[in-house]
Amino acid sequence: MIEVVKKEDCCGCKGCSQICPKQCISMYEDVEGFLYPKVDKEACIDCHLCEKVCPVLHQGEPRKTQRVYAAKNMDDEIRMASSSGGVFTLLAELVIESGGVVFGARFNARWEVIHDYTETKEGLTVFRGSKYVQSYIGDCFGIAKTFLESGRKVLFSGTPCQIAGLKLFLRKEYVNLLTVDFICHGVPSPKIWRMYLNETIAHQCEKFHSIDGKGILIENVSFRNKCLGWKKFSFTLTFSRFKGNGLKKSILLSEVFTRNIFMKGFLSNLYLRPSCYSCPSKGFKSGSDVTLGDFWGSEKILPFFDDDLGISVVMVNSNNGNFYMENVRDRLALYQVRTEDVLCHNSCLVESVAPHINRHDFFSDYEKGVLLAMGKQFKQSFVHNVIFKIVSTSKRIIGK
Ligand SMILES: Cc1cc2nc3c(=O)[nH]c(=O)nc-3n(C[C@H](O)[C@H](O)[C@H](O)COP(=O)(O)OP(=O)(O)OC[C@H]3O[C@@H](n4cnc5c(N)ncnc54)[C@H](O)[C@@H]3O)c2cc1C
Repeated sequence: MIEVVKKEDCCGCKGCSQICPKQCISMYEDVEGFLYPKVDKEACIDCHLCEKVCPVLHQGEPRKTQRVYAAKNMDDEIRMASSSGGVFTLLAELVIESGGVVFGARFNARWEVIHDYTETKEGLTVFRGSKYVQSYIGDCFGIAKTFLESGRKVLFSGTPCQIAGLKLFLRKEYVNLLTVDFICHGVPSPKIWRMYLNETIAHQCEKFHSIDGKGILIENVSFRNKCLGWKKFSFTLTFSRFKGNGLKKSILLSEVFTRNIFMKGFLSNLYLRPSCYSCPSKGFKSGSDVTLGDFWGSEKILPFFDDDLGISVVMVNSNNGNFYMENVRDRLALYQVRTEDVLCHNSCLVESVAPHINRHDFFSDYEKGVLLAMGKQFKQSFVHNVIFKIVSTSKRIIGK
């Protein structure tokens, strides 16, 4: 039976809980806001399936990358809406065009990050763009298996540990499965994200004298807004303030990633999942067919190719991945590059990051207020640094 003794030994893929034939493994949120399995020992039948599917206990052999590309989706609108070069959308569209299903991460109505699937191209919109929070995977492994068994093509995208978890969960190779992971810095705590968002909105309510939070509606969140460019990307939060007379104000909070306090905490490794500091699946151990990433350093390696709208790294790790890349080639601008060209600006491909020196202090302090605790770490007052723009005022709401 699975027993998490050390937090770093569980990546939270939920494979154990999804495979359990007695459904006796539930997931609980720990004090840092990450999910861990808990076994109902009375109901457990000692089948050991939960251990067999664990990507920490069963780490894969590194796959040898066949080809590496710097690539751009030729559709600039899609590229602008994607985090890097928009290659995920091309692979996903190909699967959908052949009647398949695509799994990815999206926001739910509460702006939490969840895994879900779509069978339409329009449904891909919500998957586009990186969400820097660990996604709730739900029952997606089991749902993907049902689609695979029925013969449908499936593209499953996720973090390296989610892909490793899926492949162990499936327990056999499927020719109709395409797995896509990405170069992963690590995943922040869903609880820290939830608190950051709530406190940010509460601060706005105060500002607009809406003490109870009524009349404020989040419309959009982007961790990778490219309005100032791909390299100088911004965190943006758009929300509306409704007035009693049916008028609406749309307000945009927009900060370059180097100034946004949530992004600072993420990129300085303050609240990543403990297993991210010794990732079991990076360095091509996830078993994915394709690994995507940002082609950082492209201005030095391919200066003529870089237009600051985003370039993806595409690492083709299997014949299956190669087949899909060949089939989207005519919708891409691409150059073959070397693994070293990627590695020299993106060590997260193979190395885990080290925890922030004050990670422990932060987690002993944050429950009184996450903005305060973040502010202490970065000597930054949240209130004085945000840049607000009223993007449209007094638009009359349709129907009122
Ligand atoms: C937590 C995280 C850390 C990352 N760290 C790095 C890094 O260190 N270096 C680097 O080069 N690239 C990193 N990336 C990947 C990069 O940001 C792009 O997602 C990738 O280059 C694909 O871009 P795209 O333009 O092709 O497609 P996009 O449209 O940007 O693709 C988004 C894809 O990512 C998936 N996704 C988004 N958020 C999550 C999530 N929270 N959990 C699981 N899947 C998710 C979506 O389902 C979709 O498949 C990271 C992404 C995430 C989510």
